[in-house]
Amino acid sequence: MNFKSLLASAGAALLLATGAYAESTVGIAMPTKSSARWISDGNSMVEQFAAAGYKTDLQYAEDDIPNQLAQIENMITKGVDVLVIAAIDGTTLSNALENAAASGIKVIAYDRLIRDSGDVDYYATFDNFKVGVLQATNLVNGLKERYGDVSPWNVELFGGSPDDNNAYFFYNGAMSVIQPLIDDGSINIVSGQMGMDTVGTLRWDGAVAQARMDNLLSAHYTDKEVHGVLAPYDGLSIGILSSLKGVGYGSGDLKMPIVTGQDAEVPSVKSILAGEQYSTIFKDTRSLAGVTVGMADALLKGGTPEINDTSTYDNGVKVVPSYLLEPLPVTAENWEERLIGSGYYTMDQIK
Ligand code: BGC
Repeated sequence: MNFKSLLASAGAALLLATGAYAESTVGIAMPTKSSARWISDGNSMVEQFAAAGYKTDLQYAEDDIPNQLAQIENMITKGVDVLVIAAIDGTTLSNALENAAASGIKVIAYDRLIRDSGDVDYYATFDNFKVGVLQATNLVNGLKERYGDVSPWNVELFGGSPDDNNAYFFYNGAMSVIQPLIDDGSINIVSGQMGMDTVGTLRWDGAVAQARMDNLLSAHYTDKEVHGVLAPYDGLSIGILSSLKGVGYGSGDLKMPIVTGQDAEVPSVKSILAGEQYSTIFKDTRSLAGVTVGMADALLKGGTPEINDTSTYDNGVKVVPSYLLEPLPVTAENWEERLIGSGYYTMDQIK
């Protein structure tokens, strides 16, 4: 063996020993392609992991829990080095993650907390409570703007999927703003339907939200006007808006109620520009991918990932060390600066 190849093999051995071998593979399990945000998340990660010298195995499970479980088990069998998981149901992965831990595979919960498992190493997400606070703040700002002279404001509440830990953070964050206004009589939840067990929307399904809005309108609003709807995700907002349009809101004298959202998905940005949806929340998936790549890279090189929260995300077994990014509110006032200015979308995609 000449000096050069000796050096090369010593280098390779060293890289292997530290786990930083450039051919490490990261298994990425995403929930569904039915929402554009998860496609952006997946693409950003593949790109950024490649730039950092890693291979990726990216899988989508179309919101089917057994399908996602099988994908993750398969990644473990194939021997990925790190798992990045945005869970469909945050409570169903304990056994699989036990196997991952037994094989020395580190696990990063992506965006959604994985519950009931001690084998979740890190959590990369946004400040989910703040998402809810911002959604409700948008709702109240919109109500003041559009119905300043009306009292009380008639409002209905929608929650996210009860099997997604985030849904509770969004709801609780929103209620921290809304509850005091219910208490002082400024807001009336006309249907009386409150609490995640009542207003949750399984699998974040827009059709389910649309059907619930149809029912609310026919059961409680035949002689009243609805002024605002708390919607935690753009896919639900679009369903709720079509229900409202179906009974005449947004035309003639019937103003379109204030409807919130989340993820700044293209149909919702267009809807905001058309004066229908009032607001959304921008969570830059490029940044979340960046944080996740940083975490995986640190883990594979034997280092310690950067975190900024060690108290919020108790998954039932442990408090998972987390990095929280800042969500940003988007309305007709600031969409261009936030979404085009940041390069998240091109003008062509929106107009
Ligand atoms: C994510 C949201 C998304 C929702 C539905 C949540 O876990 O944090 O950004 O709107 O899932 O996909």
